[in-house]
Amino acid sequence: MPLTDEQRQEIAAERADTRPTRRATVPALEDILYEPLPVLDHGFVRVIDYMGDDGAIVQAARVSYGKGTRRVSEDRGLIQYLMRHRHTTPFEMCEIKYHVKLPIFVARQWIRHRTANVNEYSARYSILDNEFYIPAPEHLAAQATTNRQGRGAVLEGEAAQRVLDLLREDSERAYAGYVEMLNPGEAGQPRDASWPGLARELARMNLSLNFYTQWYWKTDLHNLMHFLTLRADPHAQYEIRAYADVMIDTLRRWVPLAHAAFLEYRMNAASISASGIKVIRRLLAGETVEQKDSGLSPREWRELMAVLER
Ligand SMILES: Cc1cc2nc3c(=O)[nH]c(=O)nc-3n(C[C@H](O)[C@H](O)[C@H](O)COP(=O)(O)OP(=O)(O)OC[C@H]3O[C@@H](n4cnc5c(N)ncnc54)[C@H](O)[C@@H]3O)c2cc1C
Repeated sequence: MPLTDEQRQEIAAERADTRPTRRATVPALEDILYEPLPVLDHGFVRVIDYMGDDGAIVQAARVSYGKGTRRVSEDRGLIQYLMRHRHTTPFEMCEIKYHVKLPIFVARQWIRHRTANVNEYSARYSILDNEFYIPAPEHLAAQATTNRQGRGAVLEGEAAQRVLDLLREDSERAYAGYVEMLNPGEAGQPRDASWPGLARELARMNLSLNFYTQWYWKTDLHNLMHFLTLRADPHAQYEIRAYADVMIDTLRRWVPLAHAAFLEYRMNAASISASGIKVIRRLLAGETVEQKDSGLSPREWRELMAVLER
């Protein structure tokens, strides 16, 4: 995650500048405000700003004139109740803004989450850096045979080296072509004076999906938790999960009560179908139940047994 000296100085200046406010602030989140939290080989997540805290959730739920918070145990109970019963609007009262640097193929998955505000680095306006994602060897896996959307065994030896070489060579060649087409000189004039260079908005099409882009991404707590439920889930691709995991930690710092309720009633909870509940009831009654007489498809059966750890 190499930052330039200028970028480091900008971050340090932001962190040194404090402002008095009557608004709620959260010391644990202030501690990491603006700091780049590394993800993958060149990516990061930075918390840029936030509004509200656990208190803002209970304040909205109680529609209070003051802070709205009571004893911590009461606030915790209320937040758990709201989470459990999907009374979601109080969570929308809190907002958070991130600066994220991520490979383009991760950004394509991420951008599907429409309930956020996004502003991306413009590769029409600026030249993209020569930074591309190369998976760490332990994440270089073969296509899964049982799941069309997943990974199988980790590649090893010559196969792994061949893939790494191809990824690096192709990315370097693509970036060299990009720079050649841009034809950029030191002070804005063409490097090769015999032609003007191709427009940035066209030259960028040469780059592959593993090149890094950046954006500011702002969302509310309810939609952030929805994003994290989907993208920190083991079914999500490792690369986007790596970002979601770091963001879950920012959630813990920001709203510890909501974070605990999120882990309890969303992240580590399970949704069980009506037929699944019938199976559980029969199992509790001591019956032997087989997939064939369960009313569940083989896949649903496997999923339920995984939840029950049977
Ligand atoms: C493991 C996994 C695999 C996936 N595979 C694919 C794939 O193969 N192909 C593919 O195209 N996508 C795929 N997706 C993307 C997925 O279908 C969703 O587009 C993405 O997860 C965003 O979810 P969302 O719509 O709930 O989020 P958001 O866009 O943030 O929306 C949040 C919620 O707001 C509501 N909402 C928002 N916009 C609308 C709207 N226009 N109409 C109605 N309700 C709305 C919905 O309730 C929605 O759940 C995959 C996602 C995951 C997690």
